Amino acid sequence: MQKIAIMEIPFNNVTLVEAAELAFSFSENGKQVLAVTPNAEIMELCRKDCTVKKAVLSADIILPDGEGVLFAAKKLGTPLKEKVAGVDFGLECARIAVERGKSLFLLGGKPGVAKKAASELCTRFPRLKIAGTHSGYFARTGKENATVISKINESGADLLFVCLGAPLQEKWVCENRDLLKTPKLIACLGGSIDIYAGKLSRAPRLFIKMRAEWLWRLLREPWRIKRMACLTRFIISVYEYKRKLKKRGT
Ligand code: UDP
Repeated sequence: MQKIAIMEIPFNNVTLVEAAELAFSFSENGKQVLAVTPNAEIMELCRKDCTVKKAVLSADIILPDGEGVLFAAKKLGTPLKEKVAGVDFGLECARIAVERGKSLFLLGGKPGVAKKAASELCTRFPRLKIAGTHSGYFARTGKENATVISKINESGADLLFVCLGAPLQEKWVCENRDLLKTPKLIACLGGSIDIYAGKLSRAPRLFIKMRAEWLWRLLREPWRIKRMACLTRFIISVYEYKRKLKKRGT
């Protein structure tokens, strides 16, 4: 399995279909698999916050969710095959789950969103087994956290989608992974749950084709401008990193 390190984050160099196959093949070998899909914003956070970096590095499968990461890979001379958006990865995993009779637990979103996402996913994949759902607004320590974890384990879910937004979801999984006993495949999918629930729409094909999904997101959620500003910072970081590598002669 080829991994390409982009600024110290080892990405799996796979297509969307290969990524989901890989996740299932690992998990079916009895190993619990964690998949994360960092974008440029998370890459920047990894640089600044070692707890975020540790959480991302604890994943078994790291997929590039965004043009920023693809740009960095290319600039550093190690291009990645394609963007693997978390939302598509989740759908591909749901499709394989149906084929293999695996059940899914959805964690995240405002109250009612996970349930709605489950019902919409069942419309799309009629034989999908939903093991359970839970909103993403709960105390992430103490009794309430333990109750959520018990609910997941008691559901017997094979797959768990954690959609609490990044980097909260990566940190939560990193801290609680040992307690999550039944799910053999855990995927951190952020705002995908709102898309599955139909609360947010995916960018039109033209935006995706023009690699401007980020622009669609910004038009729909202008408050993201502050978060997206770090994309500029990330691009500067890529050039700085490239210069550093050149100096070191690597
Ligand atoms: N969310 C949650 N619990 C929280 C904070 C956020 O479940 O404590 C949910 C929020 O309702 C939304 C998702 O996490 O559904 C975050 O989406 P966003 O698009 O901000 O995350 P990203 O995809 O950028 O990581």
